[in-house]
This record gives sequence, structure tokens and C-alpha cells, in this order.
Amino acid sequence: MKKNLIALIGVVAMITGMAVFLNQRQTVEAEKTTSNRLQVVSTNSIIDDMVRNVGGNHVEHYSIVARGTDPHEYEPRPTDIAATAEADVVFYNGLNLETGGNGWFTKLVETSKKQFDKDVFAVSKGVRVRYLTTNANEPDPHAWLDLANGIKYVETINQTLQKKDPEHATAYQENTDRYVAKLTQLHQEAQTKFRQIPEAQRLLVTSEGAFKYFSAAYDIPAAYIWEVNTESQGTPEQMRTVIAKIHASQVKSLFVESSVSPKSMNKLAQETNLPVASTIFTDSLAAKGKPGSTYYAMMKWNLDHIYDGLK
Ligand SMILES: [Zn+2]
Repeated sequence: MKKNLIALIGVVAMITGMAVFLNQRQTVEAEKTTSNRLQVVSTNSIIDDMVRNVGGNHVEHYSIVARGTDPHEYEPRPTDIAATAEADVVFYNGLNLETGGNGWFTKLVETSKKQFDKDVFAVSKGVRVRYLTTNANEPDPHAWLDLANGIKYVETINQTLQKKDPEHATAYQENTDRYVAKLTQLHQEAQTKFRQIPEAQRLLVTSEGAFKYFSAAYDIPAAYIWEVNTESQGTPEQMRTVIAKIHASQVKSLFVESSVSPKSMNKLAQETNLPVASTIFTDSLAAKGKPGSTYYAMMKWNLDHIYDGLK
């Protein structure tokens, strides 16, 4: 009798559980169909922020590499794989940013059964490529540090979203026009400002040589400890080379990027007796709510702090 009762309670509990489960599932599916927004995955926070500016409320966005971490080498998490597999559009920087080093992105595209140029797009398309000094066959990925290139990224994102979601093409175009105007103004202001710095003081010293595109755009030569984050960092030879460049200039301060360890730059500061003027942003945005948490804010921060440190 008692046994039967327990069995009965078990069955009731199971049926209730099933009902709750089915009900929840229906709700999730219903939400998905009513929202029906374009699912966009970006490899890093900078591209993700551009997508938010162009896409506004019409896209759902997911960024893979967390803010403050290095996008050159990464190990995708199960949530990254799931998001990429479900995405309508996947944006990556290209120019070997995510496919150099351990090639994490190439593997992720394969695992999530996506195809380059069908649903996976390089936002750097159309940018004039600059190559590494140490390896003339390898593109330098950091094109976005020149705002004129950032604008090209935004335009590629705009064209891709319009193609994938023509229903909201007008909204994407309007968002893009507004955003590009803002970026263009910042770009022009920076070019004017940097002309005021005496030439001998114009040298931007950072850990990673991420500033080739920046240097060309704003006429500030750059020196670095290592050329790209995938190399060994802070070897005695690298230190000797950068110190020689510093001594050949009248540069007044050094800079360290937010997404690398400050160890080597602190050592360089000690050896050259120069202050580290500021942290600057290269491969990642700052955490949400902190200064430098959008592409515009990160570039404005860099331009203002580099100007202050060099003048
Ligand atoms: Zn980098």
C-alpha cells in the first residue's frame, strides 16, 4: 500500500516536471521567434562595439574575447562555440589577428560549421595592409588604431548587416552615417593636434608594436619592445633595440597597453629613467563603465593621453 503510494507520488512528480519543462521550452521558442533579430557574433570587444553602433536594437550581439584580454591567442569556451554556431553573421578582424598564433579562430569556424565570406566576414576588408617589420609576409593586424580604418570597418559591418537583414537597411545606414560623422571629427582633430608636437619628441613607445597604422595616420613614429603579442616578450635583445631608439630621440614618456602584462614596460622605465605616462588601449576595450569602454572612447583616450605624454 505504502509502496504504491510512493510510486504514485513519483509518477505525479514526473508528469508535473515534464509539464514545467515543456512549458519553459515553449516560452523560450516563442521569445526567439517574436524577437527574430539578427544574431551577430564578433571576435572582440572593439568589433562588438561597432556592431552595436551600426545595428542598434535590430541585432543581438555576442563578443568572444573578454575585455582586457589578448585576442591574438585564445581558447574558445563552449558558450563561444554555441554562439558562433547559432550566429547569422560572424565578424572578425582578419589580417592575422585571430588566425595567427594558435589559429584559434580558424578552428572555431570549422567546429561551428560556418563558412568564410558566406557567414564569416573580415571587417578589415578594404584596408591598406601594413606588414610586420620582422616578417614582411605577415600582415600587422592593428588597423583599427587609425580611425580612418575604423570607419572602413564600420562601413563593412553596415554593408553586411544590410545584406543579411534588408528589412532594417535604412536604420543601419542612418546609424552608420551618425557614427561615422563622430569618428571622422575625432580623426581630424587628432591629426591637427599632433602637428603641434616637436618632431624630436614624436616617438610612441609601447610594449607591442601595435601602432604602425596609427603612426602613419597621425605622423608619430613608434618604437616597441616586441613587434606582435604572439612573439616572446621582453628578451634582452628586444630591450637593447628599444633603448637605443629611445636614446636617439627626445621622447619624454612611455606607454603601456591595457591588454598586456606591464612587467617589461616597467623594466624599460627603470632602465631609461622615463615615466610610463599612461595605460593605452590597443587590442581590447576597457571594462563596461570604465573610461575607454567603447571604440570612440578608447581612441579618444589614446589620442588625448599620447598627446599629453609626448608634448
Ligand atoms: Zn595586438
